Amino acid sequence: MKVLVADDDPGSLLVARAAVERSGHDCLTAADGDQAWALYLEHQPDVVVTDWMMPGLDGLALCRAIRAREQELYTYVVLLTSQGSRDDVLAGLEAGADDYVTKPLDPFVLHARLLVARRITTLHADLAHYRKVLSLQARTDPLTGLHNRLKLSKDLEQLHLRSQRYAEQYSVAMCDVDNFKSYNDIYGHQAGDLALRAVAAALRGSVRKSDVVYRYGGEEFLLVLPQQSAAGAKALMERALEAVRDLAIVHAGDTSGQLRLSAGISSFSPEHPVDAYALLGEADAALYAAKAAGRNRVELAR
Ligand code: GH3
Ligand code: MG
Ligand code: MG
Repeated sequence: MKVLVADDDPGSLLVARAAVERSGHDCLTAADGDQAWALYLEHQPDVVVTDWMMPGLDGLALCRAIRAREQELYTYVVLLTSQGSRDDVLAGLEAGADDYVTKPLDPFVLHARLLVARRITTLHADLAHYRKVLSLQARTDPLTGLHNRLKLSKDLEQLHLRSQRYAEQYSVAMCDVDNFKSYNDIYGHQAGDLALRAVAAALRGSVRKSDVVYRYGGEEFLLVLPQQSAAGAKALMERALEAVRDLAIVHAGDTSGQLRLSAGISSFSPEHPVDAYALLGEADAALYAAKAAGRNRVELAR
């Protein structure tokens, strides 16, 4: 671990450094609170062992500053207090310190505290890791690896606000695989899953980096196209449908003999300032029109 020791007493600092290094950790030292804070910001130590009374930031203020700033990685804070200062100990623990050691510092005691510090910081690191993994999982569709609907609602809200503020247009395209029920009926559900993954990859491969493809529902995909006009979105979606046809997935239940898509597009613009939810509804209606007109086509919302 990286351990930062802050103490204005040079002797005490020496004893602490020796104890930290003998315990097998890297030691940084600071002679006052301000230097400690600067070193903290620069090195993000796992543990801070800090004196209570110091020039500059005192131990209490340092502890508060650390707790106010840390976001993901947890810093284990040990206060060094003089004997008989019980009120200081309580104030320190309330300010966010994890533990305290009384002075003069006993190297054995610090060694023992660092064992606990390692356990707690490891636990916090694991928690932060799993929080990140879970949060990503919650926004990802497991079958296709695309973003899911939860992510869509957050992203779309942001894009909508930004487009409103800067008077920019954007488009959404709702896509649906043609005759997919019969694909499952003919080739089985597992083959259906494979086809959906291939379609997802083809869609993702046919858009710009700033465009995002979401799995909207079963065999429905939604494309969000920032700063894209209706005409631009239509051209882009024609290419996307072609990319799916180019997969050449055989489908005996479709008149063409292969798997195809239909899409409906709606566009937000200063001239058509509907909210994002209404925009999705319009795209869905346009998709319905594409299906009614014979499938394998792109329709613009009216
Ligand atoms: P249309 O051309 O009008 O869209 O007809 P369709 O048959 O594609 O539409 P329908 O809504 O009747 O059927 C959709 C099918 O998609 C039914 C459902 O079993 C299938 N489906 C939805 N999600 C999945 C999935 O994750 N895996 C597989 N294999 N099939 C799915
Ligand atoms: Mg459908
Ligand atoms: Mg369908």
